[in-house]
Amino acid sequence: MAEHRSNGNVNLKTFDAHVPEIKFTKLFIDGEFVDSVKGRTFETKDPRNGQVVARVAEGDEEDVDLAVIAARRAFDHGPWPRMPGYQRGRIMSKFADLIEENIDELAALDTIDAGKLFSVGKARDIPNAAMLLRYYAGAVDKIHGEVLKMSRELHGYTLREPVGVIGHIIPWNFPTGVFFMKVAPTLAAGCTMIVKPAEQTPLSALFYAHLAKKAGVPDGVINVVTGFGPTAGAAISSHMDIDMVSFTGSTKVGHMVMQAAATSNLKQVSLELGGKSPLIVFDDADLDTATDLALTGILYNKGEVCVAGSRVYVQEAIYEEFEKKLVAKAKAWPVGDPFDPNVRQGPQEDNVIVKDEIFGPVMSLMKFKTMEEVIKRANDTRYGLAAGILTKNIDLANTVSRSIRAGMIWINCYLAVDNDCPYGGYKMSGFGKDLGLDALHKYLHVKSIVTPIYNSPWL
Ligand code: NAD
Repeated sequence: MAEHRSNGNVNLKTFDAHVPEIKFTKLFIDGEFVDSVKGRTFETKDPRNGQVVARVAEGDEEDVDLAVIAARRAFDHGPWPRMPGYQRGRIMSKFADLIEENIDELAALDTIDAGKLFSVGKARDIPNAAMLLRYYAGAVDKIHGEVLKMSRELHGYTLREPVGVIGHIIPWNFPTGVFFMKVAPTLAAGCTMIVKPAEQTPLSALFYAHLAKKAGVPDGVINVVTGFGPTAGAAISSHMDIDMVSFTGSTKVGHMVMQAAATSNLKQVSLELGGKSPLIVFDDADLDTATDLALTGILYNKGEVCVAGSRVYVQEAIYEEFEKKLVAKAKAWPVGDPFDPNVRQGPQEDNVIVKDEIFGPVMSLMKFKTMEEVIKRANDTRYGLAAGILTKNIDLANTVSRSIRAGMIWINCYLAVDNDCPYGGYKMSGFGKDLGLDALHKYLHVKSIVTPIYNSPWL
């Protein structure tokens, strides 16, 4: 778990005009902002200077219970799962419009909460949240099953039905991005939910709950319980009335979530966990592009990206020149106040090293000779989230991409993500996809309906 600290090495300017008023600090349960049952609160700090920005309600087991009661009622008896798809889609589109009307304020909330670049939040994270809602809003009225070609005298078809009440547990590095990767397809599927944002970054999630209500999402469909992992988070993963837990975070906590799900009600589990992703640079790659991609791959979002390219393998003929260029570019990388539009990296938080995932801007640069050797070394990790391959040789790119055990392969690019592109890991990076139609299907059960046809021996 990370803590926010100010960066002692950087002379931080202040861009206080951007700091927004904090409007929402209470839990959001059954359509209302409420204090926690015990009345406790915790501090959230500005990582630029370590100052307290707000005190936020600290939810625990009792609050999760209330949120689950609301979500259960909204699922079992409320309008959301029963609404025609196009109506759910209209409400989701309205939610997207409201996000677009508040881009500056939302981007600023993530900057003072997570130290994220304000310019990137404004241009990418927040507009993409609206795009993601619209992507799934367009799919809502196209959820259907199949007619089955049965082998005997039977007629059969499948229906896709919402899984039920979903518990979402999200990390601090993409407070908006991960929130919508989970919430948008869950809404589209007709499920209801309890969302626990990371304790380091609770602010934008509460603002989104307010906007959802304003857009017409019925009470109880989205509940936000802010609080800590071992209390609020653990209460979600072990709850008997939650049908599925969808977790993004460290592999270490992923183990705990799965264990709690297994020993409670065998709820479904989806895990998006850590990575140690390789970037492979063959000797025909363009050096300028390759060094730019390698640098962005490890420094984007301060290196606090699950798919960060933390192992860079460079073919021996270009290794020395690559290293020289990379170091020169790294030295020129502008670090400072995340509100400063000229800065590319805000204050670095302190990190715990999770065995072999350093969740930060630390890259291992290594030399290799042959394709066979680099495939073996790239696969030599317990993670399998992503990999990058830089080469002009399409045969090489195709061979290596099929040989790497990872959920996402980038050829001649890195960190290229699209809402239509399923995202998730192999091996100990987890299972279950976010984004794309795969994420929508994750929140839907398949039900088979079978009936004998006339004169069938089954009659
Ligand atoms: P973390 O695992 O410490 O925390 C993630 C969430 O889990 C937080 O909301 C936290 O409160 C909660 N939590 C902590 N203990 C819990 C418990 N016992 N039971 C239930 N919930 C608990 O991770 P972090 O430090 O917030 O985020 C960094 C990690 O997330 C990195 O390992 C990174 O690779 C991973 N990550 C993965 C993806 C992906 O898509 N694969 C995306 C972003 C981050």
